[in-house]
Amino acid sequence: MQVTEHIHAIKIPFKLTVSPERTVDRFVYAYLIFGKQICLIDCGVSASEAMIFDYVREAGRDPQEISMLVLTHSHPDHIGASRAVKGETGCQVAAHVDAQPWIEDIELQAKHRPIANFHSLVGGPVEVDLVLRDGGTLDLGDGLTLEVVHTPGHSKGSISPLLREDGALFSGDALPMAGGLPIYEDVSSSIRSIRRLRGIKGLKVLFASWDAPHRGKDRVYELMDGGLRYFQRIHEAVRKVTADFPSLDARELCPRVLRNLGLPESATIPIVVKSIEAHLKEIECQDLLRE
Ligand SMILES: [Zn+2]
Repeated sequence: MQVTEHIHAIKIPFKLTVSPERTVDRFVYAYLIFGKQICLIDCGVSASEAMIFDYVREAGRDPQEISMLVLTHSHPDHIGASRAVKGETGCQVAAHVDAQPWIEDIELQAKHRPIANFHSLVGGPVEVDLVLRDGGTLDLGDGLTLEVVHTPGHSKGSISPLLREDGALFSGDALPMAGGLPIYEDVSSSIRSIRRLRGIKGLKVLFASWDAPHRGKDRVYELMDGGLRYFQRIHEAVRKVTADFPSLDARELCPRVLRNLGLPESATIPIVVKSIEAHLKEIECQDLLRE
């Protein structure tokens, strides 16, 4: 789907295994920036390259024109097809310095961030050619420049690339979906990151990986406010549940917090438990400051 003058969005479905008996249908977006060359932002799970290349061909371009793949962060649904995309196009892969270790060594990621079907989602490791840092820029040719905004919290190496020419921000997973599963590593970093994105003037389109593109400046900033309010709501839920059950650990608190938020208790998977742990750390820190 073409969204702006230069940007096209592709919705990529995949299955996430949450327990040996249960698989849930999810999706993630990848984006193509059509300039003189083609820049791909994220590439979905393993084997998504076929869908991406088909889209490029249907748009009248050649997949070989993909000269750059920018990864918003290292998680499986964003990097899964990168080895194949790079292998078939010879493109350069760009990612934040803090995302690089888990992209280049997927076993390290699988060990530290376990997901049941990790190896079916990631089609292998890939070398990062362009190591990104906050404030850096990528020249896409044709007068198009992608700015690197480091937005840690969901993961420490998360970036939200910005294409000012189209007023477009690619927030990856840095902004949470209000009402969605809490998935992040650090609460205060996440909030600082969203506030920083909120401060970028002139945005017209928001590309969050978990949703269709949102157009209209009011809508873009409303979504960021909604994300901040959702953090507040989750934090209050964790605070309440931990006050009610002070002896329970994050794993045990997780289904209770999910129930409090109106989410299924069956979503008590390690990446969600980690988010609850992140809130507990904040609460502990706030309590220490109060003493
Ligand atoms: Zn992610």
